Amino acid sequence: MVKPLLAGNWKMHGKANSATELVEQLAAHEDTFSGVDMIVFPPAVHLSAVVDALASSVIDVGGQNMSQHDDGALTGEISGAMLKDIGCDYVLVGHSERRTVFAESNNEIAEKFNTAQAQGLTPVLCVGESLQQRQQGQTVKVVTEQIAAVINQVGIENLCKGVIAYEPVWAIGTGEVATPEQAQSVHAEIRSQLGLQGADTRLLYGGSVNASNAAELFAQPDINGGLVGGASLKAQEFLNIAQLMA
Ligand code: PEP
Repeated sequence: MVKPLLAGNWKMHGKANSATELVEQLAAHEDTFSGVDMIVFPPAVHLSAVVDALASSVIDVGGQNMSQHDDGALTGEISGAMLKDIGCDYVLVGHSERRTVFAESNNEIAEKFNTAQAQGLTPVLCVGESLQQRQQGQTVKVVTEQIAAVINQVGIENLCKGVIAYEPVWAIGTGEVATPEQAQSVHAEIRSQLGLQGADTRLLYGGSVNASNAAELFAQPDINGGLVGGASLKAQEFLNIAQLMA
């Protein structure tokens, strides 16, 4: 069985003190979720402090974004090598906020996935459809295209070495969570597209997960964990989710 994974995307929230306090509270209780892998994705400016605060913890740290380029005159950008250098092991690529607010294309995201792996990071590829696309029956088509762009760039075997998070855009930060059946059906579709090579690939669900709806979602056979935004900013709530997955 694939070990469940719980990831917390803090987005652009928190100050230096609150960032380290949050992970110290998680680490203090890590024996209560030993059956679960946990990653936190703090804002870039807090990464070093969070890595230091988790030095003797099993909790992993990742960046929320990175450049697809190795280095260069790219003001404001952060490379995968920089993330790796300060102690990150993961990076989110293609979060829906990057796709919609920052207009990142499928190809750019595929390049980021490729560069992340080349620089020793495990990318967490986020995919998902908008409300309009779901209403038009395009969910599978959209998600398939987002995944295919990465396969074209890195091949299916490398895709499967990463993590995939299915996050319907209409469920992110809205309080409107996909039903367990809706989420399971997209996960099953992705799993079947990956075939045997994806047998061990972790497929996460994301979109308004909290301690009240997590149990049903994570009981679905093709859902191996979650990518959690808002609820990952509250230590007790995030711990509750981890504990019910353990
Ligand atoms: C996210 O940021 O990936 C996310 C799923 O956010 P929320 O849990 O707040 O919907």
